Amino acid sequence: MLTTEVENFPGFSSGIMGPDLMSEMRKQTEKFGVEIKIENVTKVDLKGKIKRVWVGEEEYSAKAVVVSTGAKPRMLKVGEEKLLGKGVSTCAVCDAAFFKEKTTFVVGGGDAAMEDALALTKFAKTVTIIHRKDKFRASKIMQKKVLENKKIKVLWESEVVGVKGESKLEMIKTRGVKTKKEEELLAEGLFLAIGHLPATDLFKDQLELDKKGYLVTKMIRKTNDMREEFVNGLPTETSAKGVFGAGDVVDMRYRQAITAAGMGCQAALDAVKFLGGEISGW
Ligand code: NDP
Repeated sequence: MLTTEVENFPGFSSGIMGPDLMSEMRKQTEKFGVEIKIENVTKVDLKGKIKRVWVGEEEYSAKAVVVSTGAKPRMLKVGEEKLLGKGVSTCAVCDAAFFKEKTTFVVGGGDAAMEDALALTKFAKTVTIIHRKDKFRASKIMQKKVLENKKIKVLWESEVVGVKGESKLEMIKTRGVKTKKEEELLAEGLFLAIGHLPATDLFKDQLELDKKGYLVTKMIRKTNDMREEFVNGLPTETSAKGVFGAGDVVDMRYRQAITAAGMGCQAALDAVKFLGGEISGW
């Protein structure tokens, strides 16, 4: 709902606006009789055979639940939020092409920051990674690609402490972590790659979460047994029987609309199988 042009969802050769894609999906499910309620779930009890979900005082019950509450990109909170879509972005893989010949910065030192910087080199005039430490935490291979790329500069041990611009980003303010020296730099693009916050607060006492708070499903937990789980099991099931997970709340790796939609389909098929329904071919 929050993104603009979606160019990487199969079936839309000229791209589609995020909210239009959502509205098409909604119409498609309604055609098959799905009832949709737009509510904020306030409490859940997922342990028993009958799962219970509350919206305030109102209670819903079901034999199976699919959790797909998503994840939000972590923000710096230095005023950059008001410039999202106006020079500030949380996904270079999605937005890099809008930054042709621009002066761009990427914040972070993980694989996402490396991937973002590399994606930007194909379009931007300059790409500078700003990282708060003196080394990256990204995988060796991604670091190597970045450090060997002549178009990418790195500002080590620095933080972004402010942004300037009204209708679009114009400037960022950086501060040396050790030196405390502040500097204003002209900036047309600022890409945040400082991790995501999965929306799992509601489930933290009831479902297994990993150390970053992502929902753990059998597909994630049982990597060694994946084949067996894939063929005979319910790969999207969480630590609670009959509760399944799909999309960014599970996936810290791919995070694309199409991968989330695909996992949604897997979770729905697993839920049908769990409920004893017939799926042709199984
Ligand atoms: P990570 O948690 O790995 O990295 C986040 C980075 O942001 C860290 O370098 C961290 O700094 C920095 N950071 C966090 N908060 C702040 C802040 N407030 N201010 C400044 N910097 C901050 O997240 P990623 O999204 O990069 O990756 C998530 C997972 O997805 C990883 O397992 C990664 O390997 C995987 N991934 C793999 C890819 C690939 O292989 N192509 C692509 C993208 C992701 P510090 O180092 O100091 O903690």
